[in-house]
Amino acid sequence: MNIILLGPPGAGKGTQAKLIEDRHGMKQLSTGEMLRAAVAAGTETGRKAKAIMDRGELVPDEVVVGIIADRLGQPDVSKGFILDGFPRNTAQAEALDRMLGSKGLRLHAVIEMKVDDEALVERITGRYTCGSCGKGYHDRFEKPKVAGVCDACGGTSFTRRADDNEKTVRDRLSVYNTQTAPLVKYYGGRGTLKTIDGMADIAQVTRQIEGVLKGL
Ligand code: ADP
Ligand code: AMP
Repeated sequence: MNIILLGPPGAGKGTQAKLIEDRHGMKQLSTGEMLRAAVAAGTETGRKAKAIMDRGELVPDEVVVGIIADRLGQPDVSKGFILDGFPRNTAQAEALDRMLGSKGLRLHAVIEMKVDDEALVERITGRYTCGSCGKGYHDRFEKPKVAGVCDACGGTSFTRRADDNEKTVRDRLSVYNTQTAPLVKYYGGRGTLKTIDGMADIAQVTRQIEGVLKGL
């Protein structure tokens, strides 16, 4: 199955994508994670993207479309993929349609995760990840079982994203509302859109997504 998780920053896309990946073998394709890896590796793409990401703006369409085109050509997406953070505007959605069409692939569902702005700010400003394996945590909502030790790999160093501060979060939400939210209409017109309540706790959101996947 090929799906998109559509929702504002902090909606829980990455959290749920990793759970779906574990259960169904579909591959998470997060353009944000791929861009952060490029920044960390100091590639030319990373150097160009860093300042834009720090401001909470969108990196140019041709960069992210190129990244996704490359990933869709790799064998690990054969069991399906979960797009997380892509597409983020209508031009990217149209480019995705063309890419899928040329590969004979289709989208089975676009799952919209709805979360209130104030909850998003709280989620994002409390987010951190394991520096070794990348597992995500939250200061209040998803703490490791043993404080300071990653549940998944036992790692003890954690990182916070440079753009996960309150000022940039508000700019990212505004970018989402103006550029990405119109995709709800774009996909709504095709019958692939399913909307779920992203305000529920992590396990309940997973149950809602599983319900959508079962119905496909
Ligand atoms: P996104 O990928 O959409 O930006 P994340 O999955 O990284 O969002 O989630 C943002 C933060 O909120 C993380 O710290 C995560 O642990 C936490 N989180 C995710 N889903 C929920 C939820 N349903 N309720 C409370 N906190 C959540
Ligand atoms: P995310 O990890 O999805 O929150 O993305 C972090 C940042 O990476 C965003 O604020 C953008 O600067 C950039 N980014 C990620 N995905 C895209 C995309 N599809 N289009 C443009 N910029 C993106």
